[in-house]
Amino acid sequence: MSTLKRTKIKTLLAMEPGQQVLAKGWVRTKRGNKQVKFIALNDGSTINNIQVVADASLFDEDLFRRITTGASLAVTGELTESQGSGQAVEIQAREIEVLGECDPMRFPLQKKDTSLEYLRTVAHMRLRTNTFGAVLRIRNAMAFAIHKFFNEKGFVYLHTPLITESDAEGAGDMFQVTTLDLKNIPLDKKGGVDFSRDFFGKKTSLTVSGQLEGELGATAVGEIYTFGPTFRAENSNTPRHLAEFWMIEPEMAFYDIKDDMDLAEEFVKYLVQYALDNCMDDLLFLQSKYDEGLVERMRGVTGITFERVTYTQAVEILEKAVADGVKFEFPVHWGTDFQSEHERYLVEKYFGKPVILTDFPAAIKAFYMKQNDDGKTVRGMDVLFPKIGEIIGGSEREASLEKLERRIDELGMSRKNLEWYIDTRRYGTVPHSGFGLGFERLLLFVTGMANIRDVIPFPRTPKNAEF
Ligand code: ATP
Ligand code: MN
Repeated sequence: MSTLKRTKIKTLLAMEPGQQVLAKGWVRTKRGNKQVKFIALNDGSTINNIQVVADASLFDEDLFRRITTGASLAVTGELTESQGSGQAVEIQAREIEVLGECDPMRFPLQKKDTSLEYLRTVAHMRLRTNTFGAVLRIRNAMAFAIHKFFNEKGFVYLHTPLITESDAEGAGDMFQVTTLDLKNIPLDKKGGVDFSRDFFGKKTSLTVSGQLEGELGATAVGEIYTFGPTFRAENSNTPRHLAEFWMIEPEMAFYDIKDDMDLAEEFVKYLVQYALDNCMDDLLFLQSKYDEGLVERMRGVTGITFERVTYTQAVEILEKAVADGVKFEFPVHWGTDFQSEHERYLVEKYFGKPVILTDFPAAIKAFYMKQNDDGKTVRGMDVLFPKIGEIIGGSEREASLEKLERRIDELGMSRKNLEWYIDTRRYGTVPHSGFGLGFERLLLFVTGMANIRDVIPFPRTPKNAEF
């Protein structure tokens, strides 16, 4: 092979014709006739393929038999102006090396069935499809934009633990972490599990949220964010829940609930705008295949101000809707937690834009939320999005030691494992706020995919932890 350096296809497609180039990638399709073959080559750098044109007389007949969908190639040749429509340049092949053949009888992506359901059954190979290439590139762009956003604001990226003793957040059911022999569990005098014999000498689990540790960071360096894996033993098989997902949790000292909402709104708009500015090829591909309203829906959230309403106002709206004949599967009245059908009614039917709900009944929210003076509600805030429902959940935190301790007792929670957290209120307590954005919920919104299993490369859901 020549001494040329490989150029990525994304770069090649933007280059001027007339140069010798080396491209490497996987064959998407091959067509042509006896004289000339056309090979669409993709290397994952872009949704677009480069067309390789091969004059059949220059190559061994056997070569084209080995070039099948999925095979990997190195192609050297001249970048020329393309005769066909759809691309500006193509490669007139001089040398083609088959790096790896791909048996057409066995290759799972050869099948006519390209449904997302089928692809989930061959999830180890689905990353090779155009769809997952697009999703992975958008996912990467969003991860980068998240770090960029917070970095520009001077937030500190805080790494909170994945293994935790804290089980008091009530955010979701936890996966236990243990090295105890499950066939021979040591018992204490009362007949309970003797966790002092376990690896950490206590009961530990995978984290459901980095927030409590995040508060330790925020009350030290001011503004932090976490961005890491989060685990919830969600036994509901919904298209919006994973057992392992990624969450971004900013936490800010000296922010009240209004500052919190302002930041959340600015943040999601920034991310959606970043995707529009940097991922348009992939967005248009996904739009054409899965969701014709995608780009318009995305533009719809960047240019407007989100609606802000209290939980109590939202209940009134929903009750009126029911009285006017709107049918919901789940009942709604003051005190109930909204289901996604209620959230989507507010966003899609009533307001026609994203909604930030605030001031929820204390009983349906976590112990750490700041208590309002009415004695009934707490200063939580949820950001609701079209098609998704809840995308962000957050709150101003209760800064008063006395009120926080009273709430912990009221809920019958043990203070013992929370002393470290309560110390933030004992020593130099400050008003502070934060929120959590589910990364895959955001990705549902910016890819138009309908199922959360299709926006993460290796989904974990009940009865499914392949690879
Ligand atoms: P939901 O009511 O949708 O289950 P939640 O109230 O449990 O959400 P929070 O505890 O507030 O959610 O978590 C913050 C964010 O994390 C949510 O707004 C959502 O974007 C995301 N999230 C929560 N649970 C999951 C999950 N199982 N899979 C993916 N994302 C999730
Ligand atoms: Mn939940």
